Amino acid sequence: MATVAINLATGSLQQEEIIVGIDLGTTNSLVAYVHPDTRQPLAINDQGRGTIVPSVVHFPAEGLDPVVGNEAREFLLTDPQRTIYSVKRLLGKSYRDLGQHATQLGYKIIDDNSEGLVKIRVDDRFFSPIELSADILKELRARAEHALKTPVNRAVITVPAYFNDSQRQATRDAGRLAGLEVLRIVNEPTAAALAYGIGLSPDEEKTVAVYDLGGGTFDISILRIQQGIFEVLSTNGDTYLGGDDFDRAVSDHWQEAFQLPTAYQTNPHLQQQLRLAAEMAKRYLSQHDDFTTQLTDEAGQNTTVTLTRAQFNDLIRPLVARTIAACRQAVADAGLVVGSPLLVGSTNQSLTTNNQQLTTKLDAVLLVGGSTRVPLVFEAVSEFFGQPANNSLNPDEVVALGAAIQADILAGNRRDVLLLDVTPLTLGIETLGGLLDPIIPRNSKIPTKAGRQYTTSVDGQVNLKIAVYQGERDLVSQNRKLGEFVLTGIPAMPAGLPKVDVNFLLNADGILQVEAIELRSNTRQQVEIKPQYGLTDEQVEQMLMDSLMNAKDDVAARLLIEARTAAEQLLYQVSNFTRKNREHLTPEELTATEAQAEILRTALAGIERDPILKAMDELDELTRPYAERVMNISIQQAMAGKKIG
Ligand code: ADP
Ligand code: MG
Repeated sequence: MATVAINLATGSLQQEEIIVGIDLGTTNSLVAYVHPDTRQPLAINDQGRGTIVPSVVHFPAEGLDPVVGNEAREFLLTDPQRTIYSVKRLLGKSYRDLGQHATQLGYKIIDDNSEGLVKIRVDDRFFSPIELSADILKELRARAEHALKTPVNRAVITVPAYFNDSQRQATRDAGRLAGLEVLRIVNEPTAAALAYGIGLSPDEEKTVAVYDLGGGTFDISILRIQQGIFEVLSTNGDTYLGGDDFDRAVSDHWQEAFQLPTAYQTNPHLQQQLRLAAEMAKRYLSQHDDFTTQLTDEAGQNTTVTLTRAQFNDLIRPLVARTIAACRQAVADAGLVVGSPLLVGSTNQSLTTNNQQLTTKLDAVLLVGGSTRVPLVFEAVSEFFGQPANNSLNPDEVVALGAAIQADILAGNRRDVLLLDVTPLTLGIETLGGLLDPIIPRNSKIPTKAGRQYTTSVDGQVNLKIAVYQGERDLVSQNRKLGEFVLTGIPAMPAGLPKVDVNFLLNADGILQVEAIELRSNTRQQVEIKPQYGLTDEQVEQMLMDSLMNAKDDVAARLLIEARTAAEQLLYQVSNFTRKNREHLTPEELTATEAQAEILRTALAGIERDPILKAMDELDELTRPYAERVMNISIQQAMAGKKIG
């Protein structure tokens, strides 16, 4: 399969390496490549096992290597606790991010409510979603190598448009763990449009919508393609809406309508049986009008359940309506008007004030994801956009095919096609009072650069903390912290005098570089913000090592380290604060703070996490009121200009 080329400089034979495209899906994953002879993208079907690899990892009891795909999927029913599905939902997430969703899975998520990365427990072993995703990627890689009979070392991997930096970084890390060099992380809708051949010819101008309803996520993206430039005008969606929710609606309906024994809600085996039957009904009703099957409980008691397409449509209508609402928002964000006839005459002036081109009809509405096979979805989307949606390519494969085309572009096999993406969430820094000051707004095209100027709030301040956040809320506490660093060595000056430029550079992969410069002294500091939950190279190495050893104590150890780090930071902040603001604090406050700080230092010397967390909480509680008071004073003192802290 591999093409052989001769390197004229050395006279040696070179093997042209194939770069694969991978759709790492919540429910299903696929690997595709561009055939070197036909130049056509193809999903890989190794040994006739089909192109779709269910994103399910099963751990056999004896600690053997995990199995992935259909083989693993069969264990959803019989061995749910050792059979991990929908792991993409957990990728790059902390326990806190998950909230109530953790309890909806058939397997065990360690019970915790911390900022730490989620881990999954299988017997006595703990796995991160990155490791489990890597297992899926390893399987895809092995299938590609087997089918193509050549080593596969490089890949393009797709992610939903809504993935934040942590999730993108986690996907990249999973690729590395699977031994793949990840050349590019590409948004799924961008890949889908590429698969439809949109954007590959230079003089083409198009505006398209990509509606992607998979098993676990929904994305709507509006893309504009102009002179070979691929631009995402807007994205919207819901990371917790997909075909799984259709299945749940069906199970819930059956539970009630057929008075199923409560064991179908409590017994994992029966839960899974119900879930699979509901999915089967859904798929069947994409083609037929009536579905009937039998459920069997542990006592051998049978219940016949039925569902008509009309009933199914009623069950899912509210879910489909939510996707349409997101479409409406995306269309508005893109500055477009679609679906309804354009008013002419005196009433249309408000529609033309915007200098964006007014569109009543998109050039195409592309359907992506298995759930778009549901007839009601097709109808609702076509109706909203005022034109029949395009589903001519296999909706399961289209993202992987597009990823393969992107891989082919990166391999230098196509003339340069420039792809511009957008950042899905606002990026900014924390300013005084815990507010988020946006630097790169959401839906900005990337790569992009932006900056703002700040100053200090305290006389003689020589350090400035730059804390970087991602999100749409005003308060940083409600957004996601990506990282922070301290600009040191600012010459002592009165508050408000230093001029600090903070510049954000977001590259094509969505990795953020932050630079702070104090202009008067030319003091400069630069960091690459690896998202807080992302992994460093050393951590990836460490994980490889750990997987060879018994990782039972991993979690406790990591949590202790995290608590210690946080405690040290807090002590540092508190001592800085009291030193700087001595004149604003009463002697009682100073004594109480020192006493509480001492309690925390004592706890830090120990090896238990809870006392550290408790002492931190108490120190925080104690100092917060006077920190606020001092901040108010600073705000008053620094009326002009923005102060960071
Ligand atoms: P993801 O991108 O989340 O991995 P996919 O695009 O592979 O998901 O879509 C998987 C979803 O599509 C599942 O919920 C599956 O039940 C659903 N699906 C697949 N085929 C059909 C069908 N014929 N009718 C309805 N839903 C389907
Ligand atoms: Mg998908």
